[in-house]
Amino acid sequence: YQGLAGRSTNEILQLYAAHGQQMKLQRSSVVTQLHGAIKKRLKQDLKSLHSFALELSKDFQRQSKTCLYQVLAAVQGIQLQNEAMQMFQIKAFDLEQSLQEVTERYEKEKQKRKALHNSLIELRGNIRVHCRIRPLLPFDDAAGHSVSQDRQRNFSEKAAYAADDETVLVKCSRPGHASVNKTFQFERVYSDLESQDAVFADVAPLLTSLLDGYNVCIMAYGQTGSGKTYTMLGPQLEGNLAFSTEEESELGIIPRATQEVFRLISEKPPGSYWVEVSVVEVYNNEIFDLLAKDSYGGVFGVKRDVVTTREGKSDVPLLTHETVENASEFLHLVNKGLQLRVTHPTLVHAHSSRSHLVVTLTITTVVLGDNFGTLWEDEQTSQRFNKEAFCTFPQKMRDNKSTSSSRASSPVQLEASQMKQVKTRLQLVDLAGSECVGMSGVTGAALRETSFINRSLSALADVLGAIAEQRAHVPYRNSKLTHLLQDSVGGDAKLLVMLCISPGQKYLTESMQSLGFGTRARQVQRGQVKKKNFPVPSKGK
Ligand code: ADP
Ligand code: MG
Repeated sequence: YQGLAGRSTNEILQLYAAHGQQMKLQRSSVVTQLHGAIKKRLKQDLKSLHSFALELSKDFQRQSKTCLYQVLAAVQGIQLQNEAMQMFQIKAFDLEQSLQEVTERYEKEKQKRKALHNSLIELRGNIRVHCRIRPLLPFDDAAGHSVSQDRQRNFSEKAAYAADDETVLVKCSRPGHASVNKTFQFERVYSDLESQDAVFADVAPLLTSLLDGYNVCIMAYGQTGSGKTYTMLGPQLEGNLAFSTEEESELGIIPRATQEVFRLISEKPPGSYWVEVSVVEVYNNEIFDLLAKDSYGGVFGVKRDVVTTREGKSDVPLLTHETVENASEFLHLVNKGLQLRVTHPTLVHAHSSRSHLVVTLTITTVVLGDNFGTLWEDEQTSQRFNKEAFCTFPQKMRDNKSTSSSRASSPVQLEASQMKQVKTRLQLVDLAGSECVGMSGVTGAALRETSFINRSLSALADVLGAIAEQRAHVPYRNSKLTHLLQDSVGGDAKLLVMLCISPGQKYLTESMQSLGFGTRARQVQRGQVKKKNFPVPSKGK
């Protein structure tokens, strides 16, 4: 600025303009330089960016390719697996089908085997033994023993099971010992889940043979509380006059068998069959007629005796045989008898399991000449026969009914000489409790009761033993029970023993005793069960 002093304004302006120009030039060259540098840098960046992008896309391509391969491989794998799965499914289906076929075949074979087994039993005269295991019930828990809580729990555990429909499995466990499994085989084993229906389904075929001319006896054996009365009668029929039809599914063998017998009879020509009932109790080795009436028509348990007839059969003279025409009449009678069983003063015993109950249905069949079983095949003959002669029988029977007091009053004397009667018998037995109660501490009536039960049941076992060993003498007369049941046990009846088992651990001893009894009974061979296809004129009753 010192240099400017003394210069003219013009000069100063020129200088200033020149300076501005110079500055401008300088600035533009810097800008140009800067621009160049930036451009260069940008170019470089762009280039590296480009190459980076290129790399990236190449990498991406590479990676997606491998992914694609992997996906393809996976898809292929899945496809293969799918195919394998399908193969497996087909195989499984085939296997299932063949299993079903095998099962069906097995069932058929089993049926065949059972049928063959039944024929074998019949041929050998074996006793059929079925075994029913009742469910565990609330009273099984009741503390009946003075044992510790721990043992108590153990006691109410199940010890007896149905392994299958022919095998009972018993777990025998003693304190301090490893438990041992024992198995028992019977013709049929019912699990605790099986209904009264299922039990009766296996019993029913025996009833058909009743009308074919065979005697049949069904006998329940087991300790007190094991379900004998439940199986034979039903849950509340005992001592209960009111027979409730709503509970029909709960009915036991006795009412069902009667219904079945009457159903079978209803398919036959009317008047050709009739049914008589007797109800007998064996208590303290005495036989009581539970249907006997006194002179006023009141009912008393009248003592009867059992005798052996000249033909070697057992018979109870004067035993009341009431004719019944349907199942409800029968049930009414049986209920009356059962009431008596509980209330009659001479028969006072706290528990009905202290006596043996024998309900007998005698079925009389009228046959013409020697043709039992074939008589009714000719419908015309049957109708003619009905019109001419048969109508007199039912009438006669009805007339007899009010006074019927013994077998002798049944219409044996036939008007038509060619007509014969065949009697077959269905005996249904609810035995007294089989437990061996210790005699110590028991006195008076209870002691007598217990010793009579023990004696009668061991007499039954002895009889079976004697028959099994084919001894010349069978000790039927050692007890009234065996004497009364002589024809069914040792004779020509189809005999079914229904073993009843309580499953609880605390009943193990009694259950084993019952299973042992059943096993021995199965081994008894009595010779072929005979069919009553007479009549032979001299013997026809
Ligand atoms: P038992 O005549 O052998 O002394 P019960 O038939 O009186 O024995 O049976 C004892 C109890 O067990 C009864 O209350 C009966 O109803 C019950 N009971 C027995 N068997 C069965 C079963 N299969 N299902 C249900 N309850 C049963
Ligand atoms: Mg009973």
